[in-house]
Amino acid sequence: MSFFRTTVSAGIVAILFVGLFLGFIFGLALPAIVSSKSERVMSYEEVAAQSAVQEAAKIAVTFGVNSPEYGLAYETLPGVEKYDGPGIARSMPLGTKEVWMSWMKNNRSDSPVFLDQRWDLAMKFVDTKELKHEADVRAFLLAPREHFVRDFNRGKEYMDTWLSIGYGATITDPDVVAMMTTTLDIQPTDRVLEIGTGSGYQSAILAYLSQEVYTIEIIKPLFIETDKLYRDLEKSYPAYGSINRKLGDGYYGWEKYAPFDKIIVTCAIDHIPPPLLKQLKEGGTMVLPLGPPGRQYIMEVKKTATADGVTLSRRDVYNGLHVKFIPFRDEAGTSYSSAPGPEI
Ligand code: SAH
Repeated sequence: MSFFRTTVSAGIVAILFVGLFLGFIFGLALPAIVSSKSERVMSYEEVAAQSAVQEAAKIAVTFGVNSPEYGLAYETLPGVEKYDGPGIARSMPLGTKEVWMSWMKNNRSDSPVFLDQRWDLAMKFVDTKELKHEADVRAFLLAPREHFVRDFNRGKEYMDTWLSIGYGATITDPDVVAMMTTTLDIQPTDRVLEIGTGSGYQSAILAYLSQEVYTIEIIKPLFIETDKLYRDLEKSYPAYGSINRKLGDGYYGWEKYAPFDKIIVTCAIDHIPPPLLKQLKEGGTMVLPLGPPGRQYIMEVKKTATADGVTLSRRDVYNGLHVKFIPFRDEAGTSYSSAPGPEI
């Protein structure tokens, strides 16, 4: 009997041991090996070597956000490299197209070819009231869209339309950029958060409105590409050196620097992300493309403190017209809206 019991216990111990071993292999070791592979960081050279358009479909799902090189909080140091973008904007003469162009030629390194087109587009938005505040007009006039439109779209820099930037993402139409920017009514002391860095164009405008711009992008190769673009442009446009950028999921905002006076969301979602609402200052404004996949309204959301807490007010700033932004996605590439959005 005792021999039998000993054998049974030895058998149980052996089974437990094998179980633990297999558990270790499948539960810990294998996932670690697999994930360390999927999180390999692409070098700038590799990213550059791949045509953005051809590789878009493959790359869009390879987010791998937690890499050591470009980790979740890759960021420039706020407060260290501040540049007075709003100050530069205020010092620029507006008067007439000629006065403005001659100041730009003497003081900025923009190619004169685009100045004419940029002025005309800005004045069109002043007429349509898509640019309402003088500060917004100045910021729009200072941001060189031609550097943010990608090479495969040369010739379309100042067309009033969205354009592909690869990776399934787009640079937003100039009029929608203008309208969303004007809705925020940004003051130089405002801390502003953008979700969806994309081409970098929207934050380039924000950098002439506030010295405290924060932007988050989730697609790693796109983040790297735009980060490099800012670093290159920084030599001629120092304002871009003070844009704080992060690789990560913007659904959760940027807790470390919250609260924000203004938040601009540039990807489509059918609800207001609660973490963003939480990180919006009381008295603050958020603008976002809100609605079901393929059909959103540009919504202004104001958060106001009241005696019994906080109230939210919403306003459609595009008078019922709808827009089609690319979907707000999580790290796995799944849309945060209840149904997946159409691909662009
Ligand atoms: N403001 C950009 C718009 C780019 S399109 C521009 O004018 O160029 C929208 C961007 O939102 C895409 O780059 C997309 O990758 C990004 N995006 C989608 N989901 C995101 C998320 N969860 N966090 C951060 N960015 C996101």
